[in-house]
Amino acid sequence: MFAESGPATTTEDVAFEASRHAVATACRILAHRGLAEDVLGHVSVRTVGGLLVRCRGANERGLLFTDPVDVREVDEDGELVDQGDHGYAPPNELPIHAEILKARPDVSSVVHVHPPAVVAADLAGLALRPIVGAYNIPASRMASDGIPTYPRSVLVNSAALGRELAEALGDKPACIMRGHGIVTVGTTVAEAVSRALSVDALARMTLWATVNGRPPAPLPPEDISTLPDLGASFNDSQMWRFNEAALAAGGFAL
Ligand SMILES: [Zn+2]
Repeated sequence: MFAESGPATTTEDVAFEASRHAVATACRILAHRGLAEDVLGHVSVRTVGGLLVRCRGANERGLLFTDPVDVREVDEDGELVDQGDHGYAPPNELPIHAEILKARPDVSSVVHVHPPAVVAADLAGLALRPIVGAYNIPASRMASDGIPTYPRSVLVNSAALGRELAEALGDKPACIMRGHGIVTVGTTVAEAVSRALSVDALARMTLWATVNGRPPAPLPPEDISTLPDLGASFNDSQMWRFNEAALAAGGFAL
């Protein structure tokens, strides 16, 4: 199944390699946008027999420089299918991905990153409320529905902790991890990434808008109710293409 180099040969191989490429691109986008500092954070996507996840090997250079080869398949027991040539190992926090994907059959992708603005806003006691409307509709909708917080700052490195986090996430698209970061989920990698960017944008706005020491009031419900869902094509696909173009312009494209 794993091709270290050379063209994929079957339809299944092509889809598999496309997923690896998407996860690698997602890692680069999140790092480029400031949500994933240096080597920390990972993205996964469900496969038939387990999941594909950003792993670390002997040549680790950080998320901004993720290559498809850094994205490895892990089976249902959490074991790497193939260590590859660089001694790859799954992330310590693999249970974040494994347990959320188990608990949420409705999603296919999980993002875990450490956006400084989200962590800072939470530590300052600032809840992410729907303080903006058309400025960022997905963020406003997520905040209206409530973005839960996992109150522990631990490394989520066991199945029990992964289940605890999945429980905190519930059926929501995003969860803040206190003193740590966030998880977001999506039916596609692009959706999970887009949601992470929205949570980060809302956290930055919340911090800026509290410049006078007083958190801004949420929008009135009658305004929130007018905000349409602009759909996956706008929210996810266009965002993905913009971010891919931004990576290319910065010299960080795959
Ligand atoms: Zn983490």
